[in-house]
Amino acid sequence: MVARILCVEDNPQNMRLVRKILMSAGYEVLEAMDGKSGIELVERERPNLVLMDVNLPDIDGLEATTRLKAQQSVAHIPIVALTANAMHGDRERCIEAGCNGYVPKPITKNELLNTVAHFLATPILPNSS
Ligand code: MN
Repeated sequence: MVARILCVEDNPQNMRLVRKILMSAGYEVLEAMDGKSGIELVERERPNLVLMDVNLPDIDGLEATTRLKAQQSVAHIPIVALTANAMHGDRERCIEAGCNGYVPKPITKNELLNTVAHFLATPILPNSS
């Protein structure tokens, strides 16, 4: 079965790049351009993985992640943060918010595909907190 990946990203150029990379690897791609519609799509479509931009126009990607991870029905879906903030401590903020992984921008094809493949192959255990 082909894995379905939701990309939550408000920048059309970044979205196009991610879509192109994922489709070239044979994945099915779902798209949302803000945090709230991203959450709705996860609830409705139950994708196999979510790529979550951190800077979004409504609620940010970390808040969206925290809300999703609080829902038992979707908490097992891996969420990988995409962030332009390569600042020290950024990875920690993403993990604290509940993200399972992290890909810094600018996105490279190899890093994105390696990270996606890793999380699709690794079951996500419920958070004990
Ligand atoms: Mn953004």
